Amino acid sequence: MQGLMMDRPLLISSIAEHAETFHPESEIVSVTADNPRHRYTYKACFSRAKQLANALSALGLQQGDRLATLAWNDYRHMEAYYGISGAGYVCHTINPRLFPEQLIYIINHAEDRVLFVDPMFLPLIEKIQSEVSSLEHIVVMCGPESLPENTLGAVDYETFIGAHSAEYTWPDFDERSAAALCYTSGTTGNPKGVLYSHRSTVLHAITGLMPDVLNISRADAILPVVPLFHVNAWGIPYCAPMVGAKLVMPGPKMGDGEALYELLDSEAVSLALGVPTVWLALLDYTARNNLKLDKLQRTVVGGAAVPASMVEQFRDDHDVVLHQGWGMTEMSPLGTLNKLLPKHESLSDEEKVKIQIKAGRGIYGVEMKIVDDDGNEQPRDGVAYGALMVRGPWICSDYYKLEGSAGTHVDGWFHTGDVATIDPDGFMAITDRTKDVIKSGGEWISSIDLENTAVGHPAVAEAAVIGVAHPKWTERPLLIVVVKEGEQTNKDEILAYLDGKIAKWWTPDDVVFVDELPHTATGKIKKTTLREQFADYQLPA
Ligand code: AMP
Repeated sequence: MQGLMMDRPLLISSIAEHAETFHPESEIVSVTADNPRHRYTYKACFSRAKQLANALSALGLQQGDRLATLAWNDYRHMEAYYGISGAGYVCHTINPRLFPEQLIYIINHAEDRVLFVDPMFLPLIEKIQSEVSSLEHIVVMCGPESLPENTLGAVDYETFIGAHSAEYTWPDFDERSAAALCYTSGTTGNPKGVLYSHRSTVLHAITGLMPDVLNISRADAILPVVPLFHVNAWGIPYCAPMVGAKLVMPGPKMGDGEALYELLDSEAVSLALGVPTVWLALLDYTARNNLKLDKLQRTVVGGAAVPASMVEQFRDDHDVVLHQGWGMTEMSPLGTLNKLLPKHESLSDEEKVKIQIKAGRGIYGVEMKIVDDDGNEQPRDGVAYGALMVRGPWICSDYYKLEGSAGTHVDGWFHTGDVATIDPDGFMAITDRTKDVIKSGGEWISSIDLENTAVGHPAVAEAAVIGVAHPKWTERPLLIVVVKEGEQTNKDEILAYLDGKIAKWWTPDDVVFVDELPHTATGKIKKTTLREQFADYQLPA
């Protein structure tokens, strides 16, 4: 027997309609290439998204066509999210930090017909123009006065939507239709496209709002420092309008500690989200200038492991609670969130941090398990390691146009490529990427734990650990360190610092100092390059 409930589709446009009706006055504040502080309301945002939808309809596009964005976080990018997906096209967000050959690959692979691009990235497109044949229209995210001279026949966004009416009825269609596309910038091989549906996006956003997940309400002002081009800015552009939270968009000022501080302070931001690297810049700026983030209440930090020193600095200098999150492009991205349990309240700060540096507990909708090489599930005892597998309604079932060839799915579960432990309370901790695991004498050493401990040293800006061949132990860890500007340290000092903080046998066999580490387009340390660089490295006897 079937239930007797209405079958209204879960469409992204339903978020726009809800926000327009119930939260018309909530604000979106943006830094853009052509305006240091633009502000308007959700009502204006979604009204302009309808103008955009009308402008797109006039181009004669087909439902499901891919329309790309190459832009920072601001209100026009937000309008594109809704205008494109809401009208039934696929919003393909592209990371401007990709190498030109990767850009060419993914634009051609996605067969993008329209590109919305920030003025500063126009030269990038001019350079690859002859190699991307699918692009028919280029719209520059600015007004006519800021449109750079170009050879692309590009039109400015304001002119593009300006002549079109804000009267538009969002179409109804199957909630399983594709809504957005984001390519993972893996460290090897070609990028792979993750194709989100309307249903997955809406379900993910509802879950994101939950008190023990991102805990977002009308009372919040949210600064997503995570880019709109990377996994839908962790779902914030969908979560915030569901409840009418104020949005603060940093535009091109993502990595600028001073600009971020100014935005957080002047816009009374209560929740900010981003990868560890951006917080390093902010915390460095506030420490050097003796400033306190006194309006910010909490940060969600994920995308890479979070060092204990960052949890402590937010806590001690700013009274800000850091919640670690873990997820992936393939997971929309939310998988876990770290919030202490009521029973942890009585613990000392030191004991709490030991839990806070874990990736967090699984959120409703994401099933997780860790397995050994033969696929046997490992115990949730906080000690046993295993390959982390997940399944759920906002986790990809395949990659775009790859049809099962990626080898990432087994019996309906997705192989995350992460190695993890899960403790009896359900807190998952990432110890490594499968490919980065160091196996010494048959036992695993966690490169992430070593790196996180090393960056706690006051002179260390960044650290990476890789396995280097060893005649007796097969592999031993090598610690590669970037020293902070103006600081000095040496191998003995670093090893002495690690002593007592890690298992003795994890102690790196050597420490080398470099000026910088290689990074991927999403800011992760590129260990494949490091392994090539240090392939013949001779560890001291
Ligand atoms: P991406 O798809 O680019 O967002 O990268 C996803 C990968 O980032 C995951 O598979 C992890 O390897 C890594 N990652 C994300 N969050 C965390 C975290 N909290 N701790 C450690 N690694 C993380």
